[in-house]
Amino acid sequence: MKVRFAPSPTGSLHIGNALGAVANRNFGGTMLLRIDDTDAARNVPGGEEAIVDDLRWLGIGWDEGPVRQSERGERYREAAAGLPERFEGVQLLRPDGTATYHLASVVDDIDFGITHVIRGNDHRPNEALHRALTEALGARPPEYVHHGLILGPDGKKLSKRAAGASVAWLREEGIPAEAVRAYLDELGLPRHDVHLDLARIRSLAVDVLAGFTDDELAARIDVPVEVVPALRGAHDLNEARALARSILDAPDVSLPDERPTLERFRELRSAANGGKDAAKSIVRELKAVGGNLRAVRRALTGRDSGPELWAVIAALPRDEALRRIDAAL
Ligand code: GLU
Repeated sequence: MKVRFAPSPTGSLHIGNALGAVANRNFGGTMLLRIDDTDAARNVPGGEEAIVDDLRWLGIGWDEGPVRQSERGERYREAAAGLPERFEGVQLLRPDGTATYHLASVVDDIDFGITHVIRGNDHRPNEALHRALTEALGARPPEYVHHGLILGPDGKKLSKRAAGASVAWLREEGIPAEAVRAYLDELGLPRHDVHLDLARIRSLAVDVLAGFTDDELAARIDVPVEVVPALRGAHDLNEARALARSILDAPDVSLPDERPTLERFRELRSAANGGKDAAKSIVRELKAVGGNLRAVRRALTGRDSGPELWAVIAALPRDEALRRIDAAL
């Protein structure tokens, strides 16, 4: 069994194309990555690199390629030589001698031994032509499997610039790759078109974050692991990063009227080691003496709200916490 994923190099993958990549990968068998770049007018600079980055980010590997159609022009012209100029009314070569999509795709599917062509519904009308062309070239047609497209929430074609429509958009939004992959795995090989469900993707993102260990989340957003308990309410990686920054890069504030609480905190923090349990017991002891917990939060973060206070205390190295307290005093 051999499949191929054959994007045109037009930049970051449309979510529907990413579905095609996942569907091909999950189908089983060897997978060829083919870059359909015969239409020079559609190619964008860096388009192939963006696709390769998206596939790697999504954890979709391939076994062969990338093969670029632009490097196989000679072979397409040779194949066309045995056929009429127009095949079933369809042009095979452009006036400049380059192959059209139909010819290049069919020749490649034959030459690379593709057994199953898995692609979007928009190519269903091409199936009969591709079968006939394959037979005219003396080969046996592969199986064709067409899957539903991902449409916009309104049921219309989803523009690549729309929210959630490209892999790059989702990545920049802080959705972890595992959540995008889980969404596409879940769709599987839809027979009919589906509507993009961004709420579902966001909900999967929450699940993925919850499933990360502290070390995994810390590594993913490049923050010290001690900060992670303070980030557990975040819905995506951007929110987690912003929360971490709000603690790590907090502004100094001046709270001269809060001397009793801040000095008590100073004593407790000086005597304690780091960690969750020590931080929780500092909060307990401050409460027991009627300390102003809000003042401690403000001294440490410059804000009145945020993650639980014990998590803020655990997030900051002792020296930095004491420095902030001294600045506030
Ligand atoms: N480059 C075509 C596309 O992205 C590939 C179609 C096919 O799989 O044959 O739609």
